[in-house]
Amino acid sequence: KPVIVAIDGPSGTGKSSTSKAVAARLGLSYLDTGAQYRAITWWMVTNGIDIEDPTAIAAVAGKPEIVSGTDPEGPTITVDGTDVAGPIRTQEVTSQVSAVSAVPEVRARITELQRALATTAERGIVVEGRDIGTTVLPGADLKVFLTASPEARAARRSGELNGADVNATREALVKRDAADSSRKTSPLAKAADAVEVDTTELTLQQVIECVVTLVEE
Ligand code: C5P
Repeated sequence: KPVIVAIDGPSGTGKSSTSKAVAARLGLSYLDTGAQYRAITWWMVTNGIDIEDPTAIAAVAGKPEIVSGTDPEGPTITVDGTDVAGPIRTQEVTSQVSAVSAVPEVRARITELQRALATTAERGIVVEGRDIGTTVLPGADLKVFLTASPEARAARRSGELNGADVNATREALVKRDAADSSRKTSPLAKAADAVEVDTTELTLQQVIECVVTLVEE
């Protein structure tokens, strides 16, 4: 029976690195749901949709075709056939993604894609995001909720951004998490039956071992 693993938590907790490595180790597929929300945000920005206007966003939420490649060794993401792996990581997209992903029509659309990928993954899948254990795949075999101190999260993220200012990075992260946690539709939240792992004092390798052990239990 295919195994479904849900990994949720705020940004900078090591969700992507952990999820990819766990999927690769166990021969499972991998889905980065943040990339899907970034992709639809990229499309909205590129097409001049007013990000401040939820009605305008809702009206076109069904238009872009978002396709995720789920190989953990080389995940891909395209919008209407265009590779957007690079463009979805810009500051412009990052600063607007919370507003776009708060729109219920956007979430309904992306959630549908996520469930389709999860149910067709032959050997199983590791799905990382904010609402996977609570809303998208409430029946997941294992739910993990990763946390870390804001300082540790900002330090990791600014390292990824080649030494971007840690204080500015921390402010942006805290702001995005607050927006993601306070939206009405499926906010960032820990499922009641999720295992919480505080990664503040752990290396990436330790977090990976911990999650692999939880899957194998
Ligand atoms: O994981 P990442 O930082 O790339 O996610 C980008 C944004 O996508 C989050 O800040 C959040 O607004 C949105 N997101 C979401 N639900 C998910 C995954 C991401 O709303 N399951």
